[in-house]
Amino acid sequence: MRTAQVLLRRKIKRIAVKLEKYLGTPHPPSTRAKPIDMLIATLLSQNTNDKNSHRAYIQLKKTFPSWSEIAGVPWQKIATSIRTGGMANQKSKRIKKIIRTIEKEYGSIDLDFLYEKSDDEVIEILSSFDGVGIKTAACVLTFSLGRDIFPVDTHVHRICNRLGLTSNCKTPECTFQQMKPNIPKGKGYSFHTNLIRFGRKICKANNPLCNICPAYKECRYEDKEIFAIRRTNRITQKDYEFMLLDNV
Ligand code: SF4
Repeated sequence: MRTAQVLLRRKIKRIAVKLEKYLGTPHPPSTRAKPIDMLIATLLSQNTNDKNSHRAYIQLKKTFPSWSEIAGVPWQKIATSIRTGGMANQKSKRIKKIIRTIEKEYGSIDLDFLYEKSDDEVIEILSSFDGVGIKTAACVLTFSLGRDIFPVDTHVHRICNRLGLTSNCKTPECTFQQMKPNIPKGKGYSFHTNLIRFGRKICKANNPLCNICPAYKECRYEDKEIFAIRRTNRITQKDYEFMLLDNV
């Protein structure tokens, strides 16, 4: 292994340890949602916050207790039930299309066969559905199938870039591929979850609280000194720990 990669792996490990000391060590829920449920929940979480998408998911399940009911109803009916999650029209059409595709290609509306597939096969299968990208597939792998994978959404992507853990990555997909071989063994879930919490509490998109950041010395963000001297920012205390995918 090249020296640069060894140093990068050590840096990622140091940051993962710092975040666990600062935010605690997150553990996955004792029961995991089925892959099909996790897929739909992750689709609902796109472009909204976890609280709103959780409400939309609960309402969707209440309106359609089994996924087969969704296959036969007009998308407008689905949209009504997920309105609180935002982009309801687009998401309802997408969910209906995916459900019908799964039924047509695999004979039933179920993705339990993914338990037998490798990580790469799961990514390939799920990414073949319209509107499903690597991030969504990685969430199913981590939160439903219990694999040691590190999902990257826009927030995790932003923080990895600021910390200098990736090089020239413009998209979460690029960050996912670069980070994948360097995540400490067994830390995919914990590091992902703590980076989400860290992004909500400290390394916020617009006003990072660099003055109290536990990873300040490791960070490569060019404006960190400017943000470090602003001491008026407040820590978000409320609800920063709620994670939709732990509550499916
Ligand atoms: S120093 Fe600032 S920009 Fe860097 S990781 Fe910490 S909060 Fe984020």
